[in-house]
Amino acid sequence: MSSRRPAGRIKGLGGVRGRPRRIVTLRDSDAAVLRRRSRPIRTVDRTTRQLVADMLVSMRRAQGIGLAAPQIGVPVRLFVADIGRGPLAVVNPRVRRRRGSQVGIEGCLSIPGVYGDVRRARAIEVEGRDLRGRRIVVTGEDLLARVVQHEIDHLNGVLFIDPGRLLRRRRRRVRRAG
Ligand SMILES: [Zn+2]
Repeated sequence: MSSRRPAGRIKGLGGVRGRPRRIVTLRDSDAAVLRRRSRPIRTVDRTTRQLVADMLVSMRRAQGIGLAAPQIGVPVRLFVADIGRGPLAVVNPRVRRRRGSQVGIEGCLSIPGVYGDVRRARAIEVEGRDLRGRRIVVTGEDLLARVVQHEIDHLNGVLFIDPGRLLRRRRRRVRRAG
């Protein structure tokens, strides 16, 4: 399941064309990248924009609604998301505020076939950089807040199946948060 809307364009991406990249899963020989703390991006440049374009193509191909850079083997602090309202990319995201709580089912493109309930903040405010290097503040509630928290976990080497995240496993197949 995924958003079936046509691929939206992201502001600041310019004419960069994305290339599909392999999504690293826990079973792969390079899975260690999923457990590292990713490093900040110092300068937002064409390489960053190419990475974002590649991540968007890869995420859509896998029918995901979020993807973090380490999931394509690049350990930098960057994620993309699209819950059906248009694509979002945040460089060096940092959660500034959390509000409320929600429990809901998650999956992960890097952990195929596993789903489970995870408690997350219901609303969040995240600070970071856009694709031109400008400071941005992104707010999200409900599903968007869930996806963003899931992706920021990836940047810290944390997976939704970890103790302190997974409340219980579920069989039901859901949209994979990325
Ligand atoms: Zn994930």
